[in-house]
Amino acid sequence: MIINYGYGGSSINIIKEDKQNNTATVSPVMEGEKYSNYYNFRINNKSNNPGTLIIKNTNNQQYDSFQYPLILGEDGMLIDMDNNTCYMDGDDMYIHIRPMTNVEISSYPRYTIENLKQFLSTINNNDDVIINKGVLPEIVIGDPSKDAIFIIGRQHPGETLSSFFIEGMIKSILDNRLYDNNCFVIYPIVNQKGVLNGNHRYTDKKDYNRLWHTTDVIPEIDYIKSMMDKYNIVNFIDVHCDEITKKDYIRTKITDLKDKIDGIQVLEDQSNFKRFARALVKQRKIINVFDKKAREYVEQRYKCNSMLIELSLHNRNTAERTKLGYNFISKYMGVEMNEDYTNTRKK
Ligand SMILES: [Zn+2]
Repeated sequence: MIINYGYGGSSINIIKEDKQNNTATVSPVMEGEKYSNYYNFRINNKSNNPGTLIIKNTNNQQYDSFQYPLILGEDGMLIDMDNNTCYMDGDDMYIHIRPMTNVEISSYPRYTIENLKQFLSTINNNDDVIINKGVLPEIVIGDPSKDAIFIIGRQHPGETLSSFFIEGMIKSILDNRLYDNNCFVIYPIVNQKGVLNGNHRYTDKKDYNRLWHTTDVIPEIDYIKSMMDKYNIVNFIDVHCDEITKKDYIRTKITDLKDKIDGIQVLEDQSNFKRFARALVKQRKIINVFDKKAREYVEQRYKCNSMLIELSLHNRNTAERTKLGYNFISKYMGVEMNEDYTNTRKK
């Protein structure tokens, strides 16, 4: 069996390839002092015999939340593995690889700049949409002189499901003309290097979400802030994923959001003390609550609303994530949707 990695969005550490026994042993890479929650690689079993793949350290990851991998076959089907298709021995996971197969194994679905380019190529360019590929991919929809809603994703590169959610939002904004009274400025992939390298949270030991007060450190953040200076920003939507919780949630100070949307629970902003306690209990780490997150920085500097969207990484169904994004932004912008998510409003 041959392990392939080194392509965009891949990440794995090969420990041992035993050709004689058709066995390969790998591990997620280290990120900080623990193993990354994100991994992605391909395994090609060219033999007529079944092979055995061993993934080590799957119980000792950054965020304490065990999940079986996804397997993507040559037929394009993405399948959630479970205890019928993998078995555990301590921290080691054993996976049976069928003869003559070439599959992609990952913790979360891979989504890179190439996927974004592919998606953007399906959008009809017209006077209302501008797609830029400067410092980072940028999509501006609507009249820039109108109140602007900024949307960003993938500050944390491994949170790949947020990209499917953002695709859904962009589709809905265009299908339902949500930009008639607003302008949308969208940065689907902020941490470009981390996404390319298959990092989970950090890039060069930096957490992008905690660096919005800096200049000349992260070019993408400097650029987004320069754009915010030019617009009348009324709302900032930062899309993330959560490794541990099983339910999607939004944190915001917008009090009537609960009444406008459904499908995602709306929670109040956490106090610094609660954040500190949660990190200590759930992630067993001490966090500095005085490092502002992107949305705290943007909210205070631009006196605008903000939302932190956290999608559970336990639902890795990409089509459901796209649909959720589509439905969420339509409802938020006041468009009534049918059960099949088509607009009931006349265009
Ligand atoms: Zn995040």
